[in-house]
Amino acid sequence: MQSQSDETAAIAVESRQESNSSSPLLGCSVADLTSWVKSQGQPGYRGQQLHQWIYQKGARSLSDITVFPKQWRESVADFPICRSTIHYRSVAPDGTIKYLLRLADGQIIEAVGIPTDKRLTVCVSSQVGCPMACDFCATGKGGFTRNLARHEIVDQVLTVQEDFQRRVSHIVFMGMGEPLLNVDNVLGAIKCLNEDVGIGQRMMTLSTVGIRDRIRELAEHQLQVTLAVSLHASNQALRKQLIPSARAYDLDDLISECREYVQLTGRRVSFEYILLAGVNDCPEHADELARHLRGFQCHVNLIPYNPIQEVDYQRPTPNGIQAFVAALKNQHIAVSVRYSRGLEADAACGQLRASK
Ligand code: SAH
Repeated sequence: MQSQSDETAAIAVESRQESNSSSPLLGCSVADLTSWVKSQGQPGYRGQQLHQWIYQKGARSLSDITVFPKQWRESVADFPICRSTIHYRSVAPDGTIKYLLRLADGQIIEAVGIPTDKRLTVCVSSQVGCPMACDFCATGKGGFTRNLARHEIVDQVLTVQEDFQRRVSHIVFMGMGEPLLNVDNVLGAIKCLNEDVGIGQRMMTLSTVGIRDRIRELAEHQLQVTLAVSLHASNQALRKQLIPSARAYDLDDLISECREYVQLTGRRVSFEYILLAGVNDCPEHADELARHLRGFQCHVNLIPYNPIQEVDYQRPTPNGIQAFVAALKNQHIAVSVRYSRGLEADAACGQLRASK
């Protein structure tokens, strides 16, 4: 007959073996966690406890969960929750904090926490690197490694929340990567952040450079998330010069897919337009942009260029920026300027790369 401790050891080995082939607990719903605890021979209510410890108390290992019986806790200690570790952290004078996070496979990604009095926004990455290679963006210069899993996206929000010791109120998918090239995991993360972390979908913005047919597909999910589309140019010739993927997706087609999105969802689209001095910021560009967007339920967000090492674009002067704003307003286009936070920490839009 096996002794008690032999039995425990056997269970421990079994669950460790199982853990190697299992998906992480982070990213699971309360129902998933309940089935998992039951599969481990535990009562169902421990699923709710596990959920609370993962999403509210920041448990990094099952051995941290002191409400669980010690013996069981130790036997499943190696089962992965799968949190990242902070590899590097840099605080900008405006309070924005950039994090380099190390994932389980050693890959490094960036997340940014952007605080104001009323908000704490997290800018999350959706991929390790980015394949889009937009000319003005630091992330694209480093190439693409892989998609992030759902739990790796959720982890970024929990990490910022824990580090600031404050609830995250807003999420923007504007970090490394192109979210619409990783749709399943991004949608899974949105669901988890909404239902398990408790952040309203209306507080989330997904930014995309536009991948053919994916915006329409996104509309079918009827999310409450705001869609932001990186336009950056007022005509196809200029856009394909700045954004290589635009060669395969004409500006007119992109805008008409966005119009369809508005029809299907009833939600406004926001267009991002980076301002590059002398390249896309002249009055005729504003007029051209306004012609494309006439009658469209949308908002234009101008982003003055944030400098990166590899290219020598310039940010327009404050007067130049205001002239562009005025030109759009004259044409009755809703417009605002996004002055990126965290410039000094290389944490602003377009400056993210997996290095210090
Ligand atoms: N792949 C998504 C998310 C990228 S980052 C997308 O393209 O929308 C979020 C925003 O920052 C995008 O609008 C992107 O074009 C913009 N951006 C990239 N590089 C920038 C830079 N150097 N200065 C200002 N904005 C930049």
